[in-house]
Amino acid sequence: MIFGAGGAGLVAASGLAYWIFMSPYSQLSGDFHYKGTESERVVALTFDDGPNEPFTSQIADLLHSRGVRATFFQVGLCVERNPEVTLRLIREGHLIGGHSYTHRFRHLLRWSTQREDIEQGQQRLTTLLGRQPALFRPPWLFRHSSMLRTLRSQGIEPISGEFAHILEVFQPRPERIARRALAKVRPGAILIFHDGFNSRTGPRGRTVEALKLVVDRLLSDGWSFATVDELLGIPGYHSLEKSELD
Ligand SMILES: [Zn+2]
Repeated sequence: MIFGAGGAGLVAASGLAYWIFMSPYSQLSGDFHYKGTESERVVALTFDDGPNEPFTSQIADLLHSRGVRATFFQVGLCVERNPEVTLRLIREGHLIGGHSYTHRFRHLLRWSTQREDIEQGQQRLTTLLGRQPALFRPPWLFRHSSMLRTLRSQGIEPISGEFAHILEVFQPRPERIARRALAKVRPGAILIFHDGFNSRTGPRGRTVEALKLVVDRLLSDGWSFATVDELLGIPGYHSLEKSELD
């Protein structure tokens, strides 16, 4: 997608634009956490684009059976489809963060529509949970300084991470996803998996299988798991009283 157009200059410009606006690591638009400062064997597992059934529930079953807690950045439209799944995740100690309302690419083209999409997603979660999620992961990690500033002015922290496998959305074999994900594990790492497919449904069975391999290996190697707010030492939610004051 990035390198589809011809011309070395265009490729270089596209690469630079990607680095500034979408790379997991670039800090050029402002602070964008992709890892914690942890020195112990602690890692945060994160899941984007859900809930997407039955896969989100399968992930919840797996995590529950291993006593592992994780962070789910959820899409408003998907939460409306499966609110009971989001509530189950909360009950089982997972953290819910925002990931926009529609996850539509065209909303990224104008800040006003992008902002509306973000706010609508946060509102859906706030209504369901009775508190405001304080963490937000931008769809495709696309961000710019106005977005980061606006989020922070509302007490919402933008969160990046490391893709467990860059082609995970195309569902390569579980062993391949797991091998790449395990290679990225460091103390304080924030790993990005996908339990959904933008705001649509889609098969994520291989992600579930890969996750089993990853979690069991990390547990046997003595790793523990934190939610992103714990890893970064920041609030996971704001009470409604606080957000009204804001
Ligand atoms: Zn996403």
